Amino acid sequence: MNDKTYATCELCEQEMKPGTPCTYTHFKLKNGTIIEKIMTDEPVCPDCNAPMGSPHHPGCDNERCPVCGGQAIGCPCLDGVHDLKKVPRT
Ligand SMILES: [Zn+2]
Ligand SMILES: [Zn+2]
Ligand SMILES: [Zn+2]
Repeated sequence: MNDKTYATCELCEQEMKPGTPCTYTHFKLKNGTIIEKIMTDEPVCPDCNAPMGSPHHPGCDNERCPVCGGQAIGCPCLDGVHDLKKVPRT
């Protein structure tokens, strides 16, 4: 079964295959503060396929806001996915 296709993350530009974490690890808040994202707490995220302990891809339904704990999508605490700070994984 190699015919399954995966969406491509708009930030890290990787296919969101199971076990592929996003390389964007922080959010930028409206006041300019950089805050670390809440990492995946399931073995593999059922929505964006990020593995446990790694960042969700932007737009994931399961991603939580690190400020208020609510759903990150559309959260007023956050200033949108394009203000994520890219922190390369080493
Ligand atoms: Zn990504
Ligand atoms: Zn996710
Ligand atoms: Zn929030």
